[in-house]
Amino acid sequence: MYDYDVLVLGSGPGGQKAAIAAAKLGRRVAVIERRHMMGGVCINTGTIPSKTLREAVLYLTGLNQREMYGQSYRLKDDITVDDLTARTQHVIGRETDVIRSQLARNRIRLLTGTGTFADPHSLTVNDGSGREQKVTAEKIVIAAGTRPARPSTVEFDDRTIIDSDGILNLEHVPQSLVVVGAGVIGIEYASMFAALGCKVTVVERRDRMLEFCDLEIIEALKYHLRDLAVTFRFSETVASVERRATGALAVLESGKRIAADVVMYSAGRQGMADQLNLEAAGLSADNRGRIKVDEHFRTAVPHIYAVGDVIGFPALASTSMEQGRLAAHHACDEPVRAMHELQPIGIYTIPEISFVGRTEDELTEKRVPFETGISRYRELARGQIIGDSYGMLKLLVSPDDRTLLGVHVFGTGATEIVHIGQAVMGCKGTIDYLVDTVFNYPTLAESYKVAALDAMNKMRSIDRMRA
Ligand SMILES: Cc1cc2nc3c(=O)[nH]c(=O)nc-3n(C[C@H](O)[C@H](O)[C@H](O)COP(=O)(O)OP(=O)(O)OC[C@H]3O[C@@H](n4cnc5c(N)ncnc54)[C@H](O)[C@@H]3O)c2cc1C
Repeated sequence: MYDYDVLVLGSGPGGQKAAIAAAKLGRRVAVIERRHMMGGVCINTGTIPSKTLREAVLYLTGLNQREMYGQSYRLKDDITVDDLTARTQHVIGRETDVIRSQLARNRIRLLTGTGTFADPHSLTVNDGSGREQKVTAEKIVIAAGTRPARPSTVEFDDRTIIDSDGILNLEHVPQSLVVVGAGVIGIEYASMFAALGCKVTVVERRDRMLEFCDLEIIEALKYHLRDLAVTFRFSETVASVERRATGALAVLESGKRIAADVVMYSAGRQGMADQLNLEAAGLSADNRGRIKVDEHFRTAVPHIYAVGDVIGFPALASTSMEQGRLAAHHACDEPVRAMHELQPIGIYTIPEISFVGRTEDELTEKRVPFETGISRYRELARGQIIGDSYGMLKLLVSPDDRTLLGVHVFGTGATEIVHIGQAVMGCKGTIDYLVDTVFNYPTLAESYKVAALDAMNKMRSIDRMRA
């Protein structure tokens, strides 16, 4: 007899959804979580604080209103760290409450402390004050997430040389910032600080950024970020960072020196599986602290599952939640379907980006013919009303059967309106549906109809020539 049917390690999106799904199936469930980390990286240091910070930046700087009210428009002249953190702390507090109440409502026991494996069916929970308890379970779900990777050659001091967690603890809004690494997290923060008026330099080893996105959209983003005074140093590597009395000096391998108030490393994430004493369970982590799983999220030990960032790509809150639910259903012998292959990507830069399906480059490389249909926000009444003249929606359409191959959105509401395209793609719909549908007016959603008509007209003119 075990203490629990399902024991979940970690209360981030993956762990939460695994625990709730198992509880809904009538299982006795417990979640182990470290003190002050309820809700995981997602709530405390990752998704939620960064997205709330973005909202605070947009509101306080008045950036989105400047097309209407002029370039000098601001809600507040001197935006302080307190202005920004007030909002993040408020949202973190509320979200943590929601999660606690959801766990309680579903009779999920919360065990506070750090869990490590004692054997394949038990974990020891250390509450940090020397008290330990051992808990056993028939099935275990590891949802331990990640921490920022810190290159060993860099002396982090959490004030001037920081990682992405450190952004949330800054004492002042820096006047200059070097971001090392142009991944999603690095670029999101680069755009937020640039919007605050900070001089941002992004140093990236590769010759382009966010290479999994559509090139045209990334070009538009780069143009906007440069307009906010972001400097890009592509194909450059930071050789060292020197701490000085008034900031830090980033020295590039090419010999360039960049002075900044703060240097933020955004150099990937390290999985937490290397801290779980996995050997006691007959498991091991790779050198990036991640665990291998099969298509059902089972590890090499079949009653132990792993979900979320600790299993690697795509390492998003959105996918982690779904992995948690699927793993719990499999563990509880509930019939499960595989995760849908169409997964959207949302990048909360200023302006934001979102897409689903293929990019132009991918289709060209695979020699799949496509037509594009484009709608620009400035040609939509809603675009004019909200003062977004740069946003755009691009549909990639198969000329053979008029289905959607990809949907790419740049600008206001991109991460929301991409889901219209995702639904059409998921239901194998064609652009005929979008052309024939009546959309609310004036909306940004209407851009689907405009883009579909654009693609249709292009395909028609080709057909006419061929006739
Ligand atoms: C700055 C930033 C911005 C992001 N923005 C987005 C976004 O916009 N959209 C999106 O979808 N994703 C985003 N992500 C990614 C998202 O936060 C993660 O994909 C998600 O949090 C992963 O969920 P998870 O369930 O794997 O666990 P996590 O949220 O990583 O939580 C894991 C939990 O396990 C706990 N834990 C670990 N080891 C132990 C142990 N031994 N004992 C007890 N508890 C333990 C930790 O304390 C932690 O609370 C962002 C991440 C960062 C860092």
